[in-house]
Amino acid sequence: MIHNDHPRYESLKLRAKVVEAYKNGILADSGMIAHGRGEAFDYLLGEKTSSNAKKAIKASAAALILAKNPVISVNGNTAALVPNEIVTLADELHAKIEINLFHRTHERVSNIEKLLKEAGAKNILGTDQEEKVSIRGLEGPRATTSKDGVYIADVVLVPLEDGDRAEALIKLGKLLITIDLNPLSRTAKTATITIVDNIVRAVPNLIEAVKELSNVDPTTLHQIVKGFNNKKNLQESLQKISKKHTGKVKT
Ligand code: ATP
Ligand code: MG
Repeated sequence: MIHNDHPRYESLKLRAKVVEAYKNGILADSGMIAHGRGEAFDYLLGEKTSSNAKKAIKASAAALILAKNPVISVNGNTAALVPNEIVTLADELHAKIEINLFHRTHERVSNIEKLLKEAGAKNILGTDQEEKVSIRGLEGPRATTSKDGVYIADVVLVPLEDGDRAEALIKLGKLLITIDLNPLSRTAKTATITIVDNIVRAVPNLIEAVKELSNVDPTTLHQIVKGFNNKKNLQESLQKISKKHTGKVKT
């Protein structure tokens, strides 16, 4: 039992959720290690949504609204931490949800499918019943994708993605949006838009941004996407980390 006056309360609560998801067959053991890496960066970033993360969230919302065929790719960590929010976001955007696991097993796919269905998802892609296609440049189970989902999508939201897969998706010409607390990861550097924020804050903020921009005209939305510079935004995150601990900096 964690007391809510503990200075690391929020962080410890997330850890407990992640461990529970592992025990319930949602998360792979390596997913817990990936969470630890994210947690370390969240600590360095002050565990709140920065102004540059907000810019990335706005650009992501604009790109997702403009998309003809948006897909949200869900892995074990995403399912463990924000299943309900992913379903709400998909509903707002009329986006498809696809399960994509790096360490794919039949059991985890079906556990995540069940969890997402309980959260209200109607049509889930990437299940084992479905025919799959392989992404060029990747091998093994992690290369598979739904032929009606990521494979044909123009805009893909892939939180906590692996660097190899992110690179392969960019080569396929996707507009790639990721959520990744590590501004130095290959995925963060490869994606078109990287939201450097914890997924538990980023997804609710993304839902709000989509609602706010839903009636904005396409020309303005295009300008928002074009005006976003991922490299610059990642540099701002890194500057925040270094300045935060040596002097005053606006978060
Ligand atoms: P890459 O393959 O892109 O170089 P990596 O090998 O360092 O990255 P992976 O295990 O492939 O890392 O992906 C996990 C990523 O997700 C890490 O960059 C980690 O910082 C990030 N991450 C973990 N937990 C969260 C979270 N709750 N919110 C946002 N990002 C997270
Ligand atoms: Mg990796």
